[in-house]
Order: sequence, then structure tokens, then C-alpha cells
Amino acid sequence: MTDLIEIENLSVTFNTKGRTVRAVENVSLSVKASESYGLVGESGSGKSTILRAICGLAPVSGGEIRIGGIPVPTPRGKAFSAQVQMVFQDPYASLHPRHTIDRTLSEPLAIHGLSGSDAKVKRALEDVGLPANFRFRYPHQLSGGQRQRVAIARALMLEPKILLLDEPTSALDASVQAEVLNLLSRLRAERDLTFLMVSHDLAVIDHMCDRILVMQHGKSVEELSRIDLAAANMKTDYARSLFNASADRMLG
Ligand code: ADP
Ligand code: MG
Repeated sequence: MTDLIEIENLSVTFNTKGRTVRAVENVSLSVKASESYGLVGESGSGKSTILRAICGLAPVSGGEIRIGGIPVPTPRGKAFSAQVQMVFQDPYASLHPRHTIDRTLSEPLAIHGLSGSDAKVKRALEDVGLPANFRFRYPHQLSGGQRQRVAIARALMLEPKILLLDEPTSALDASVQAEVLNLLSRLRAERDLTFLMVSHDLAVIDHMCDRILVMQHGKSVEELSRIDLAAANMKTDYARSLFNASADRMLG
């Protein structure tokens, strides 16, 4: 059986102001249906660019991206967004400041010509643990954690199979982070979702991911299973130092 997400020899190169940045070089990974797969590595290692490339938001200069065995079309189009949705790091930047929550949540349904918006919006808020009357609010009337719940609800409106999560809790207070991670875990179990998620936090990875890929300077360094991680069974010095540094930070 083919894996749900397959990335083969992906390269992404940015050309800006005469400078060339090879953000992702020859990275391959695959994620099974229902799996939660993590991307880790220091800032600038190309993690976000991989998620953005999947969504058609970064220039793919080589390789192939397949969902369910089929190469993604360019532009990605409606069928893709019904299957794959992204949740960004910053819930302040990702919601339109002058749209009510109701508008934010009903928009994907309208674009896809789906009916029953009213009931679906109410249900979506309930599913992410927000009161129904929040639909009449604007983002500035919500806390960071509540905004991220709205962003998650929006990502789920079209009932996608795959969520791409780019540090979904790192902009939130520590106490709120755990709540949002628990929400994501619950939704994944209830809806049989597949996650591809970026994090720099060992606790998050440990809580959420079945396997991870360690990245450095746009390249893949090594893949580790949950079991490898728990046993500190890294093959490369880089991965070991990354997790040692992360463990020290958590202790400190
Ligand atoms: P990470 O998410 O691991 O911190 P990114 O994927 O955001 O890293 O970035 C990888 C590299 O690509 C960095 O050097 C970054 O500066 C560069 N980069 C990312 N987006 C762009 C862009 N739109 N234009 C030019 N360079 C970019
Ligand atoms: Mg990033």
C-alpha cells in the first residue's frame, strides 16, 4: 500500500535579490495514513518550507510530492484543499482581523459550494471546545489559545484527511500549549487524521509524533521512530546534540 504523503527528493530554492537560498535539498519522507510525523531541526533548517511546498506556497525546484499516490497538481486546487489543510504558528497573523469567526469558518464551505453552513459552524466551534456564541466575535476579542482553536476549526471545516501543522503551539503560553496539543490529539483520534507537524520542542514531539525527521541546513539528517527517541538511539551526532540541547532546556 502506498503511504498517504510521499515526498521524494524535494528541493526548494528561493531566488531573491540576486541571492539563491537552497531552503530544502533533496529531502525524502513518507507518512502513513493515520500517522503523526514530525519535522525537527534548528531555525532555518527548511521545516516550514517543506509544509509550504506541499501546499504550493513555496517554489519546488526538484522532486515530487504525492498524496495518496497521486502527484499534487499545480495550482493545488479545490480537491487538494479538501484533503490537506495547514495550521500556522501564529494565530494572530493567520485569522483575518476584520472577519467574524463565523465568516472565517463558513468561508471554506462557501468556496466549495457546500450547504448547511450554519449548523457546521456551530458544530465546528463545539468540536474545538469553544462556546457557540464565539461565532459573532472578532479575532481581537479572543485569547491566543482561542484563536488557535479557531484556526484548527477552520482547517477542519472541509473534513480533510491531512493536517500540516507548523509549530501550532509555540506562540502560546505554556499552560495553553498542553490544552491545544490535547485537542489536536483528540481530533486526530476521532477523525483518523494524518499529521505532518513541525516542532522544535522535544516534549511536543514526544507527546505527538510516531516518527520524526531531523533536518539541518535544508537537508535530512536522520529519521527516528518514537522507540529510537525514547532509547536515545540516534545514529548521528547532530541528532544527539539536538535532543540533548532540547532535554537540557526542558530540565533548566
Ligand atoms: P525553519 O522553518 O526550519 O525555521 P524555513 O523553512 O522557514 O526554516 O527556512 C529555510 C530557509 O529558507 C531559511 O534560510 C530561510 O531564510 C529561507 N526562506 C524561507 N522562506 C523564504 C522566502 N520566502 N524567500 C527567501 N528565503 C526564504
Ligand atoms: Mg519554521
